[in-house]
Amino acid sequence: MITIDGSEGEGGGQVLRYSAALSLLTGEPFTIQNIRGGRAKPGLMRQHVTALEAACAIGGAECSGLTVGASELTFRPGSVTPGEYHFAVGTAGSTGLVLQTVLVPLMLADAPSRLVIEGGTHAMAAPPFEFLQKTLLPVLERMGPKISITLERHGFFPRGGGRIVVDIDPAPLRPIECVTRGEFKAGKVEALVAGIPFDIADRELKAARKVLVEWPDEAFAPVQLPAENGPGNALLMEAEFDNVTEVMSGFGKLGVPAERLAKIAAKRMVGYLGSQAFSGPYLQDQLLLPFAMAGRGAFTTVKLSEHTRTAVNLIERFLGRGFRFSETADGAHLAEVR
Ligand code: ATP
Repeated sequence: MITIDGSEGEGGGQVLRYSAALSLLTGEPFTIQNIRGGRAKPGLMRQHVTALEAACAIGGAECSGLTVGASELTFRPGSVTPGEYHFAVGTAGSTGLVLQTVLVPLMLADAPSRLVIEGGTHAMAAPPFEFLQKTLLPVLERMGPKISITLERHGFFPRGGGRIVVDIDPAPLRPIECVTRGEFKAGKVEALVAGIPFDIADRELKAARKVLVEWPDEAFAPVQLPAENGPGNALLMEAEFDNVTEVMSGFGKLGVPAERLAKIAAKRMVGYLGSQAFSGPYLQDQLLLPFAMAGRGAFTTVKLSEHTRTAVNLIERFLGRGFRFSETADGAHLAEVR
């Protein structure tokens, strides 16, 4: 039984999701205290309960204390059973983060799975659908499994109501090297609006264009979604390279001017473009688990995030295997499974 202090490191929901995934992969039970102890409002939120329920469903696990607000629980894994599953967060809590909890165990299962996940698809502090589809999953597919993902309906904060479908065809994980990202091929920026004034999209695109000055006018496009999918707004920026596509995002929020969120997201993209790294600030922590399970492999990344340090620590505790980090000549960071 591994004991985890949920306030350590990043101190948020990731500690719990990573622990559950690692527990399913190793068969090692864990108990966690101070869940999300590093957050202003600690304890389990709806999306974390759903993520753990998903882990229990696919992994035949038993989990005591799984209620909203709980600050500790014990998780005892069973065996992973691939198949058809439906998980609904019931709020705008992230569908991508529910997927994050069960994806690697199902990628390594002995038969295919289909997941239908309902909740938020474009909400703050979580991977939006396009990031999963264009940034994360293509890298994972290079490791062997086939994974397709479909967006059936957008879900924004606070209403949620989004729906994704994920088909996973498992395979043993092959170690890969994601060290160079190759040549820049194209950039694209889309401002999505649903049930809110259309000029918000224009204002975001104008602000993004001022930062991404080298991208041509036709790279910037507003997208109007059906009003009943809203209210909602997301700004999605995509930089396609030979070997990876980075998706940066910003999400509309009451009180945050459209220009400001666009400028922040665009500057983050400029930071990534100015580096030589394969991974941006969010892909890095999401690659650690599959790379660790492959046993070998390496990738380069921009500056290491606290999410990455926290995930590495958990991987070491469950797998007894970690990562070695070093700086490359061009200022990127190299993460190697050791
Ligand atoms: P909490 O509410 O405790 O912060 P959480 O479960 O919502 O918990 P984190 O623990 O912070 O969130 O984990 C967020 C995860 O989402 C990380 O894996 C991070 O890399 C990823 N992520 C956050 N923002 C983005 C983004 N814009 N694009 C892609 N991935 C993202």
